[in-house]
Amino acid sequence: MSSAVIDIPVQSNVEYRIPAVVGGALRVPLVTGESVGYANLDHAASAPCLRAVRTAVDELLPWYASVHRGAGFASQVCTRVYESARGKLLDFVGARRTDSVVFTRNTTDALNLLARALPRGTSVVVFDTEHHAALLPWTGPRVRRIAAPETPADAVAALDAALADCPEGPRLAVLTGASNVTGELWPIAELARVARRRGARTVLDAAQLAPHRPVRITELDVDYVALSGHKLYAPFGAGALIGRADWLNAAEPYLAGGGATRSVRERSVSWTTGPQRQEAGSPNTVGVHALAVACQALAANWANIVEHEQALLTRLRAGLRGVPGLRELRLFDADHDRVGVVSFTVDGQDPGLLAAALSAEHGIGVRDGLFCAHLATRRLLSRAGSDADRAVRISVGLGTTHEHVDRVVSALRNLVIDGPTWHYEQADGQWVPIDDPRPAPGFLD
Ligand code: PLP
Repeated sequence: MSSAVIDIPVQSNVEYRIPAVVGGALRVPLVTGESVGYANLDHAASAPCLRAVRTAVDELLPWYASVHRGAGFASQVCTRVYESARGKLLDFVGARRTDSVVFTRNTTDALNLLARALPRGTSVVVFDTEHHAALLPWTGPRVRRIAAPETPADAVAALDAALADCPEGPRLAVLTGASNVTGELWPIAELARVARRRGARTVLDAAQLAPHRPVRITELDVDYVALSGHKLYAPFGAGALIGRADWLNAAEPYLAGGGATRSVRERSVSWTTGPQRQEAGSPNTVGVHALAVACQALAANWANIVEHEQALLTRLRAGLRGVPGLRELRLFDADHDRVGVVSFTVDGQDPGLLAAALSAEHGIGVRDGLFCAHLATRRLLSRAGSDADRAVRISVGLGTTHEHVDRVVSALRNLVIDGPTWHYEQADGQWVPIDDPRPAPGFLD
């Protein structure tokens, strides 16, 4: 067995393989003085690094040198690493061969780049359920927000109506693959079809979808895809915007600086075309390599990844149904297809206190809050009949085991029925254990 993949026994006694992550054996301290294996149930925020990614980064580091302008051999190797990553990203998202791959810091950066590259007078239609990264970059009088739909069919009808209402001129529909609050999948192909019929381009925020399901630009018929390396098991600071090159080539460079220029004179600048026009400054070669390697590792294992995550998700949701007073947040039906994300509140319980106690007493990492999707989460809380002003989110992925799922379910039941065993206070709006005795790792000293 290679160390880059691990075998997972499943109920049927068939073994399947998923890419292995770094940190699977991490132990964290508890307030009781013991330590326990860390249950990272916050993959939706940032996923752990794949072992294959770490190995690839280690291999590259001795060769690390400048890209594009260096004459040295190591520079040429790095240039090849960097430029060949574009093709790997194109393959990962099943793009058209003419599509451009612009490397960015993350999805937020990719969507802001596209927002700056829109032709003058572009109408933008966006659901108000989007993550802030997809909701906020579009500004001006031609931005139209659509209220959260009740069903996938409502979403398609609402987009159709909003686009029909747009003035003449270029149009863009902003779509999300999977919600970071509920994990629910959106009907991307249907939305894209409607957009195409109305003469609109589409951009897919694939930050949550791409780590969990194959994304195929040509099958979905979307125009752009944005994604983040740190959610794709490649936490080295790179993301990408992949899609049609024409708007990006016609727009002013996102950043002005070296690498984006063809020539600079006293009174004039000529900007280059192609992805480098939108990538001024020294690029993140290590991050881009890490991202490309992660994409290849996921693409080689989709069937097993999906099976693994769906088994975890089914187990998690079944377990959570046994927690008294728990209300799951969801936009669509309970059995609607989703990735491994579940957000919820528990009647009479403070979500922040639950999250703090899960960490301090059980070594479990979850998230609480509004998940950078304030409009969506508030609306979902109200639809769930919850009077809480925030929620708890559990999200699973390649670093999650069945034991993690069982532990969080049983810990939640205990916390809700018996209450925490430690005392907590609020500091800067966050619950923290009083007199927290947990030592920080030595490297922080
Ligand atoms: N879109 C969705 C659906 C997300 O979940 C996130 C991050 O949580 C983003 C966009 C923004 O990603 P990043 O913070 O990597 O830019």
